[in-house]
Amino acid sequence: MRISIDDIKAIVGKAKEIDLTEDFCSEDFDFQLLAPLHFKAKAENKGEYILLEGVITTVADLHCDACLAPVKFPVEAEFREAYALNHSVIDEEGEMDIHAFDGGELLIDSELAASVLFSLPMRVLCREDCRGLCPLCGQNLNEGKCVCAEEQIDPRLAVLKNFKFDRSDKEV
Ligand SMILES: [Zn+2]
Ligand SMILES: [Zn+2]
Repeated sequence: MRISIDDIKAIVGKAKEIDLTEDFCSEDFDFQLLAPLHFKAKAENKGEYILLEGVITTVADLHCDACLAPVKFPVEAEFREAYALNHSVIDEEGEMDIHAFDGGELLIDSELAASVLFSLPMRVLCREDCRGLCPLCGQNLNEGKCVCAEEQIDPRLAVLKNFKFDRSDKEV
C-alpha cells in the first residue's frame, strides 16, 4: 500500500486523513486474507517525521489451534509508525523506529504486515469451549465422542481407582 504525502510533506503540522482499501498479501503471512485490507489513519507532519497512526481491519483465514477447523478471524490492528522527513532523525534512539522513505510516497506494506501479525492472539480457537481432537484417533471431539476414552483407560489410573486410602496411616 502506498500513502501519498506530497500534500503534507512541506508543511509542519499539516495532517490528512487516509481511508484506503486494498487487496493485500504478504510473504510474512502463513495465511490468506479473506477480505481486502482496510486502513483508516491519519498522517501528520511532525516536522522531523510523518506520523502515521490508525487502524487496520480485515479478515484472516486462520485455523483453530485445538481442532484445526478453519476460523474466519476478524483482524483489528493498531498501526503507529513514523517516517523520517529529515534523515538525521533515523539513527536517534527514541521510543519508536523511524523509517526512511524516498519521494512523496510511503510504502508501508511491511509495517502493515507486522501490525497485523502483532494483533493476532497466540492461540486461536474456533469457539471458546472447543474440545479439540482426540490424541489417539484424531476424531474431532466437537462432532462427537470417539471410543478411545472408554476402551483405553490408562493402566496407571486403573490401579489408583482400586486403591483404598487409609487415612489413619500417618508418617512417623
Ligand atoms: Zn476448534
Ligand atoms: Zn479417539
